[in-house]
Amino acid sequence: MSRVYNFSAGPAVLPEEVLKEAAAEMLDYNGTGMSVMEMSHRSKAFEEIITTAEQDLRDLMNIPDNYKVLFLQGGASQQFAMIPMNLMRNRVADYIITGQWAKKAAKEAEKYGKVNRIASSEDRTFSYIPDCKDLPVSEDADYVYICENNTIYGTKFKTLPNTKGKTLVADVSSCFLSEPVDVSRYGLIYGGVQKNIGPAGVVIVIIREDLITEDVLPGTPTMLTYKTHADAKSLYNTPPAYGIYICGKVFKWIKSLGGLETMKERNEKKAKVLYDFLDQSKLFKGTVEKEDRSLMNVPFITGDADLDAKFVKEAKAAGLENLKGHRTVGGMRASIYNAMPYEGVVALVDFMKKFEEENL
Ligand SMILES: *Cc1c(COP(=O)(O)O)cnc(C)c1O
Repeated sequence: MSRVYNFSAGPAVLPEEVLKEAAAEMLDYNGTGMSVMEMSHRSKAFEEIITTAEQDLRDLMNIPDNYKVLFLQGGASQQFAMIPMNLMRNRVADYIITGQWAKKAAKEAEKYGKVNRIASSEDRTFSYIPDCKDLPVSEDADYVYICENNTIYGTKFKTLPNTKGKTLVADVSSCFLSEPVDVSRYGLIYGGVQKNIGPAGVVIVIIREDLITEDVLPGTPTMLTYKTHADAKSLYNTPPAYGIYICGKVFKWIKSLGGLETMKERNEKKAKVLYDFLDQSKLFKGTVEKEDRSLMNVPFITGDADLDAKFVKEAKAAGLENLKGHRTVGGMRASIYNAMPYEGVVALVDFMKKFEEENL
């Protein structure tokens, strides 16, 4: 068996310890004589898995008691509709457009009400985060929406926007659990887990209780109403049970390492190796404003599409996989999520140095 360093943006690398544990428990989970994939979601064993996972997530993120944690399906993209359906009481919302995912979310929300795009960084290909200290937040906005870490472009909000008292909604798919957060500053935080937490098929929603009501837009399906899942503790119907089980193991793994402070330190140390190299390289260059750089997704280019393609191909042959940039932007992108070891980033930089020497 040989594992590669996997720089995929998602689905992405998972901690090896977690995969090994899951493998060891595949045929017989904890004396039940069956795999977690085969057991009833109403069983005692699964109830313990989901309640423990929720508690560990609450511990890690310091989630206040007046927030619910929901384990849902449909990916992050389903939240693009679920959020307006549940929160757009005035049928008005403000969106900050910092990349494709925020753009898609805003477009979807337009099906349900008026969407004001109160800031955007599209003028410079989303290579920065707009100044959000004093935005024209709409008087009657039901919420202000951000994509906190822009997976495709490699930018991250280092400070949250001033929402002038309006509810903040954030897509944290690609920065979930990468550093400490103050949950109380948000009304709703959500993310697909396949970037930084677990297998595709689970989306986690952390939502303040006052936002969970029956007063949703007319026609909202039962399954797309937060209250349905909050009342049923994420067991209204069959949940993505195996995925939740793996998420739970990742929460334990993060806890065992010291929690989100430790994650932040590890992630900063990893990202520094790569950004420091990019900043002095004569061949490669980062594409993002320094102060807005993501710790998770690092796009870079040589400026020559053929050379980029050669790099991706040779890197793959050297065991460094999935470095091709998003199909809409080209170039390269290294996603260096929680589970990417420091050694993986060092191996990437060593390879980049060698490639630079050979191709400059
Ligand atoms: C990947 C991604 C999405 C889309 O996730 P799906 O689960 O595929 O719907 C949305 N937002 C962000 C920030 C992402 O990185």
